[in-house]
Amino acid sequence: MIPAAFDYVAPTTLDEAVRALAEAGEDGKVLAGGQSLLPVLRMRLAAPSKLIDLNKVAELRGVREDGDAIVIGAMTTHYDVLRDSLVAEHAALLAEATGTVADPQIRHRGTFGGSLAHADPAADLPAAATAMDAEMVIAGPGGRRTVPVGEFFVDFFTTALGPDEVLCEIRVPKRTGWHAHYEKFNRVAQAWPIVAVAATVRVDGGSIAEARVGLANMGPTPVRATGVEQALVGQPATAEAIKAAAEHAAEGTNPPADGNADAEFRQHLARVLTSRAVSAAVGA
Ligand code: FAD
Repeated sequence: MIPAAFDYVAPTTLDEAVRALAEAGEDGKVLAGGQSLLPVLRMRLAAPSKLIDLNKVAELRGVREDGDAIVIGAMTTHYDVLRDSLVAEHAALLAEATGTVADPQIRHRGTFGGSLAHADPAADLPAAATAMDAEMVIAGPGGRRTVPVGEFFVDFFTTALGPDEVLCEIRVPKRTGWHAHYEKFNRVAQAWPIVAVAATVRVDGGSIAEARVGLANMGPTPVRATGVEQALVGQPATAEAIKAAAEHAAEGTNPPADGNADAEFRQHLARVLTSRAVSAAVGA
């Protein structure tokens, strides 16, 4: 199908982009990689009057270091996240999850910020960002604000972004020396997960000292699995102990039921995949 007619602007600075979005009002929409937005427009599930294309805003691309965090520009493509040495060193979980997103063609166009702003509960990167305790830096007409990942995802395809705001960068605390693994269960390769688990743990003296676990497709937003995080802390980093703690992985979740899996099966998957993810992370 062909999208409804819209106006198009391609600003070259973030300030210009924010101004253009404010001028467009409720009917304006930001275009990033277009990998989720264009299908929505073509199916006429949305008909914005103006698209503000961020692809020429160079300041929104790239990864830099800022003290105890790395900062990823919202327009950094999946491909560039995968190749980045700072991400590899300090946020390996993000690189691993990004490597499972779609296929190379989509990874060359799709962006980290676009995936987070789209807020598909079945997407890989919101769950990984949740496990990494990321913070979203948002620009709007009133300036910048920072929103923790736990407050950013509000509901299905809904975030804390206002209609006149742009997600400009994502701050990810360095997890140097932590172990990480992303475990994804999908029907076919290069597709969204039926359930996925993003796990990262710090081991001290053979025991798990800290754990962060994010779940994809286990509710209307990515889920921070605090029950299993607490159960893991203090346990020896062995397959048996991890499997026992992973029994808590589905606590407090409200997974969807669809043609791929009912809610009960998704909860079973969350437990099994968490056990696999944490065991793989620590090499147990
Ligand atoms: P766009 O499509 O341009 O935008 C998406 C939405 O976010 C729009 O509403 C847009 O207005 C908004 N937006 C984008 N950037 C910003 C910003 N900086 N500030 C404010 N709002 C913004 N994803 C997975 O996680 N796992 C998969 O396995 C997977 N498989 C895929 C397979 C196919 C065939 C396709 C087409 C997509 C797949 N995706 C998958 C989605 C892919 O990761 C997209 O890249 C991502 O969802 C959207 O990123 P984008 O840059 O293309 O954003």
